[in-house]
Amino acid sequence: MNKKISKKAINKILFLIILSIVLIFVVGPMADYFWGPVSKYIYILSLAILIWAAVLAQRKARCPYCGGPVKLDDIFQSKKKARYCQNCGKPIEIDEKN
Ligand SMILES: [Zn+2]
Repeated sequence: MNKKISKKAINKILFLIILSIVLIFVVGPMADYFWGPVSKYIYILSLAILIWAAVLAQRKARCPYCGGPVKLDDIFQSKKKARYCQNCGKPIEIDEKN
């Protein structure tokens, strides 16, 4: 059977990374301007979100065959080019429906 990496999980990780980048570079600097010195809390929050994304990536970005870690880069590239697990050599594919 053809096993694949869940697209939902990957999208969630991507969303968290984008969210933390927006918080750091857009919301943080704006917050100081509009609401006074609160940006440090926003930076702490975005750091927590980044750590959460990293934990999710550790747990979800895994080879469905052998459970070995797969780089996020390999997962994103796998749409354009065939990528293989560095551990067992099986192809890395994303399940678009799951
Ligand atoms: Zn593998």
